[in-house]
Amino acid sequence: IGLSKHFHVKLGAFGQTAAEVHALDDFTLDIRRGETLSLVGESGCGKSTAGFTMLQIHKPSAGQVIYGGVDLAQLSEDRLRPYRRKLQVVFQDPYSTLNPRMTVGEAIAEPLLFHGQATRGNITEKVATLLGDVGLSPRFAMRYPHELSGGQRQRVVIARALACGPEFLVCDEAISALDVSVQAQIINLFQDLQERYGLTYLFIAHDLAVVRHISDRVAVMYLGRPAELGPKRAIFSAPLHPYTKALLSAVPEPDPARERSRKRQVLSGDVPSPLDPPPGCRFHTRCPLAVERCRREVPAWREMAPDHFVACHRVGEAIPVPDAA
Ligand code: SF4
Ligand code: MG
Repeated sequence: IGLSKHFHVKLGAFGQTAAEVHALDDFTLDIRRGETLSLVGESGCGKSTAGFTMLQIHKPSAGQVIYGGVDLAQLSEDRLRPYRRKLQVVFQDPYSTLNPRMTVGEAIAEPLLFHGQATRGNITEKVATLLGDVGLSPRFAMRYPHELSGGQRQRVVIARALACGPEFLVCDEAISALDVSVQAQIINLFQDLQERYGLTYLFIAHDLAVVRHISDRVAVMYLGRPAELGPKRAIFSAPLHPYTKALLSAVPEPDPARERSRKRQVLSGDVPSPLDPPPGCRFHTRCPLAVERCRREVPAWREMAPDHFVACHRVGEAIPVPDAA
């Protein structure tokens, strides 16, 4: 929450752009309609804060959150209501969103009725359709959350989010608590639903193997600030920021030959407190390439290749930055 105070968020929708985030003055994160943008970084780096600020669960202390050309940060709660329907979030823990005393059917019916997406007359049918959308049979409507597996509960949570008729879905570690085999099924479900409903995803995750699978673009955050943003292929095959390289070096390489030959770069030290972040580049206390300038000056957000942005003083120096991976 401390972080959101420093977060200048801008979510926009102009033509192709569904949402746009400005964190600090010179940073723009535009989330494009229909894409999956992943937000990665260690826990506590502000990924969820960024997501929640976009959804106006947190009010940004400064900056804009532009959606469909409207600055959500300026709207009263009343005028926000139609946007709340279009902007939904799926959390890691389905228990936090499912009432244990409500049946699955009631849990899905509630947002349908609240947002006027169904009437008393067609509610059973609508609930059955949504259950079908998430791969569950209509029989699940009569069950209670505790009777379901983790994967089934997460499907119900997704159905509940869909019941609102969303355009933009923040998936906050939405599959992290699930078994690997179930994770794959839920990822496929997210991809199916994206195609069927034209959804835009902000996928907050720390599992880079999953991110590699699902994303169109990837944004790497460190202590509330963006370190790097680019197309998935660029981030995974040609990362620029030392922090991105360190994160990637912790991921097993699918190709065993490359796995044997590469060097692992282990980050030393803990993430400093976001309440008292280091001056200059926030990564300098852990960066193997830090120089004096990094301690004083905040690195600018620069586009080094088309659509590939980075905030590091030493990227693009005449002396090539040694490769970590
Ligand atoms: Fe490391 Fe300096 Fe680049 Fe920050 S600006 S990532 S400390 S080299
Ligand atoms: Mg989080």
